[in-house]
Amino acid sequence: MKHPNKSIQCSVEQCAYHCGDCNYCSLDTVQIGTHESNPSQEQCTDCLSFDARTRY
Ligand code: SF4
Repeated sequence: MKHPNKSIQCSVEQCAYHCGDCNYCSLDTVQIGTHESNPSQEQCTDCLSFDARTRY
């Protein structure tokens, strides 16, 4: 059973660390980054702690 970290809201249900019924991450901390050279809007940022559920 994953423990939701109430400090990290997340709606990415496909991630292995997502808590399922509640929209929180189960990790203690996450790494955020960007895939852009000059990020200008929220879509430019990524959760680098994401792990695809299919690996588990
Ligand atoms: S690791 Fe990132 S994408 Fe995955 S549940 Fe946590 S915050 Fe969401």
